[in-house]
Amino acid sequence: MNVAETQGVYITPSEVIEYLYCPRFIYFMNCLEISQHEDQRYKVLKGREVHEERKRNNPDYVRKKLGCASREMDVYLASDRYHLKGKVDEVLYLSDGTLAPLDYKYTEYKEGVYRTHRYQSILYALLIQDTYQREVKRGYVCYIRSNSLIKEIPYTEKDFQSAQAAIEEILRITQRGYFPKRTPHRVRCVDCCYRNICVQ
Ligand code: SF4
Repeated sequence: MNVAETQGVYITPSEVIEYLYCPRFIYFMNCLEISQHEDQRYKVLKGREVHEERKRNNPDYVRKKLGCASREMDVYLASDRYHLKGKVDEVLYLSDGTLAPLDYKYTEYKEGVYRTHRYQSILYALLIQDTYQREVKRGYVCYIRSNSLIKEIPYTEKDFQSAQAAIEEILRITQRGYFPKRTPHRVRCVDCCYRNICVQ
């Protein structure tokens, strides 16, 4: 896409997760501006709970466990290069000189959910790389409801490429009003809030 179309446009990791679930979510949300009727208040309260839980139970546990030299908390980042913005729970300075995102989840660890968390982590890594101009080779997710289990996420070049491809496609849908193909997983349509207006 040309620069004029994407200048100053930022995608959030949540939008990428929506896109991965079904690309048409982006069309309905961004082009037709039909929300998913999600309870925003619930989300805000949940976010606060995580924050409080973190302050109470954590705070140095993770840093010690991972052997990181220092960290920054609740960091807002935006990247013109990747058309991406978001808030990283923590940016860790690891002993090997690289940086890493750490994300807290107020959930139990489950394989299925883990895939989206992994993707989110890759997007945070792009944000950190571009902002700090330092290498980011891996990230971490802490599952508070699973006894603060920490999962390490190693990144590959392919991960970064596929994240950038997803962003590019979201920009195309959002900026050009391009109507994307539906998800190949038809089972997702059953409970979808857009099923009445979506051509399936
Ligand atoms: S009904 Fe199916 S194809 Fe349409 S937006 Fe929902 S999940 Fe996607």
